[in-house]
Amino acid sequence: MRDLVVKSAIDLFGNSRVAVGQGPISQLTGDRDYINRYMTIGWPTWCLLFDYYFHDRIAFAPMPVGLWGGGGRAFLWWFPFIRVATSLKTDLVAVSLTLVHEGIHHLRTGRETVEDEVLCRTFETLYYRELRDLGVDLAGKKYHAPTAGGPDDFYFEHEVMSKALAKGRLVDVVVWNSNYVGSLTAKWIRRTLSWWGGASNRSSETQVRYLRVLQREGTGEYLDTIVQILESARNLNDVVREVGNTFWPEFLRVGRANPIYAARTATLEQRWKLSAAQR
Ligand SMILES: [Zn+2]
Repeated sequence: MRDLVVKSAIDLFGNSRVAVGQGPISQLTGDRDYINRYMTIGWPTWCLLFDYYFHDRIAFAPMPVGLWGGGGRAFLWWFPFIRVATSLKTDLVAVSLTLVHEGIHHLRTGRETVEDEVLCRTFETLYYRELRDLGVDLAGKKYHAPTAGGPDDFYFEHEVMSKALAKGRLVDVVVWNSNYVGSLTAKWIRRTLSWWGGASNRSSETQVRYLRVLQREGTGEYLDTIVQILESARNLNDVVREVGNTFWPEFLRVGRANPIYAARTATLEQRWKLSAAQR
């Protein structure tokens, strides 16, 4: 049955400024193409959500702690649906934020990739900021006893995401999440390395996870990307140690033999020895 909370949550989004590409979106800096996506994705998302509501494809369902929404397609992709965690049902703002996140997934591939998840979370966080800065009552904080997986946890997580977004580090939050790390591929890492503040803006944990994937898919083939990440590592020794035993010897062997990267490999080796000596 169509739920009026869902209707109101979609209306709330329809009246927001981010839905029409304004508000907090104008504060974003960085890659122009990427910002354009945020400016143009709100309205189709609203249309999709309204269509899903009209066809009764949105419902509340119990979910494991830490999951706020989900969805999929049943019967050979004929029946797409979105689910929102029952624990958020009493909180209109939380329902609205979750619907927008899931709606963008449905507009896109629907697969749980790091790139799509960053897109969903970025837009959702911009919408969250708009509501928060307007002084919209984030009711969960005031009227509900804190329960695990309830609105309190939801808003805590959104503050964390808002701070991460300010530093260009939402991607690190996503890469750290075991649900999405499986979608990392060497090709994708190479293509996106300059996004979100570049290689030096990635956390050490992200750099380690990237290097593992790059080594697995071919140190020789992805030497350019590996060198860039190693050059941007704040503590080279820590990162190298975390990647695994076979990584460094293999990198040195391949890097020294490559005429384009031999000099940069030698410089990295010096840096690596130097920081080892300082211990
Ligand atoms: Zn998601």
